[in-house]
Amino acid sequence: MSSSNPLLRPRPPVIWSYGIAVLSVAAALIISRLPAVHLQDAPVSLFLCAVILSAWFGGVGPGLLATSLSTLAFNYYFLPPIYSLDAKPEEIPRLVIFMVSALFVGSLSAAQRSATESLRRARDDLRKTVQELQRSNEALQAESRERKRAEEASRQAQADLARVSRVTTMGELTASLAHEVNQPIAAAVTNANTCIRWLARDTPDVEEARAAAVRSAKDGMRAAEIVSRIRLLFKKGSPQRELVDINEVVREMIVLLRGEATRYNISVRTELAPELSPVLGDRVQLQQVLMNLMLNGIDAMKDVDGTRELAIKSQRVENEQVLVTVSDTGVGLPAQQADQIFKAFFTTKSHGTGMGLSISRSIIESHGGRLWAADNSPRGASFYFTLPTKVEAKE
Ligand code: ADP
Repeated sequence: MSSSNPLLRPRPPVIWSYGIAVLSVAAALIISRLPAVHLQDAPVSLFLCAVILSAWFGGVGPGLLATSLSTLAFNYYFLPPIYSLDAKPEEIPRLVIFMVSALFVGSLSAAQRSATESLRRARDDLRKTVQELQRSNEALQAESRERKRAEEASRQAQADLARVSRVTTMGELTASLAHEVNQPIAAAVTNANTCIRWLARDTPDVEEARAAAVRSAKDGMRAAEIVSRIRLLFKKGSPQRELVDINEVVREMIVLLRGEATRYNISVRTELAPELSPVLGDRVQLQQVLMNLMLNGIDAMKDVDGTRELAIKSQRVENEQVLVTVSDTGVGLPAQQADQIFKAFFTTKSHGTGMGLSISRSIIESHGGRLWAADNSPRGASFYFTLPTKVEAKE
């Protein structure tokens, strides 16, 4: 159905269509009257060709005109006149048959042309639709690329904000952290001195000296471990997903925040479910969530009388999820504003930023979990978060 085919050109103007009908019938007549053409059926075939051609190019009107002209010409030039002496009545059916055949092939040709035209129009429409679809597909792809870039930028901004908040918090904890690091260093020094004393005896006690040296080395390692954990929290890096043992994260944060708790006479209690499935997540971000919740708990208990206990519990719950609870016996959630605490910049503290809980919630949600809070009975508040374990995260 190529448009370069002359037979498939679009229809000519009406005047041309009728002109083609007249010319094609005239041409058929001239050819069939040429002395060289003496075949008996040649005029019939040529007139039928003229009708087909006219109906094809012009449709029904020109087809009918060609049929009428052909019938007249056929009757006039190729049949003896009815009233003449050599008139043959048996020729009348021949004329009728010719006329009926001309009408039949003419209408077939017109119908075929109109079907071809419809197909051409449908093909053009389809081509247009495909082009439009391609254009909208390209626009959608561009939009999707743009959205991905925006999402990436937003993720990066969130990670930067989380890091700034982490660094600020760590900065505020400097005194406690220094204390936490100093303790093992002081113990290492004491043990090293003990070792020297055992060796400086008249009869050096090598066994005791070795034991003291081993203790000193262990203390040094503990200090180095704390420093490396602190460094990790300060580090700038893009979020990374790895298998994380949530109980280990809890223990690590207790090591870092024990000094702060001790400073305010707060006891830390843990209830960690053994053999929890690992969570697929970013270790530093999860540490940050626990740090925020634990520091908030400590803050809430700083000024209360009575028991000051920070309890951290981990447990397996339905749907292959891990539930972590951080409870305190502090002042409790701010009255009438409990639903505000996860909003950015909401704070009831004179030096608060109001970002801790909002960042924590976005971290937990980006891990496919939930973070919420409730009042504790008889006193204090509890913060809960769930995280999908590796199996669930995979699904
Ligand atoms: P900030 O600690 O800087 O105020 P957060 O987003 O961490 O920011 O906390 C927002 C607010 O939520 C706090 O100011 C406090 O009013 C409330 N809140 C958070 N944790 C506790 C808690 N353990 N007990 C009582 N109130 C809390």
